[in-house]
Amino acid sequence: MTENESVLVCMRVDGFCVVYPGSVKDRCNVCHAEVWVAPSGQAGIATGQVTKTMCIPCVVIRVREDPPQSVGLLPKTAQEVRQWLGRN
Ligand SMILES: [Zn+2]
Repeated sequence: MTENESVLVCMRVDGFCVVYPGSVKDRCNVCHAEVWVAPSGQAGIATGQVTKTMCIPCVVIRVREDPPQSVGLLPKTAQEVRQWLGRN
């Protein structure tokens, strides 16, 4: 992966029954499969923190071929934190 590439790892829509509330459908930038993007991912895309959306199978292939030098997490939205705490 390139130094400035910031990939959002997403679950594919097909075969994934449990969807995080507020998620929207997008497309994997590699295989174009439909993926779910949670609110924190949507915020990352809107702010430019995320430069590419990828499904898990494509990320696995990419990491095997070209391991990233670092891995980070996007900050969660207030809504996501409230849901984790059971206060939604
Ligand atoms: Zn893909």
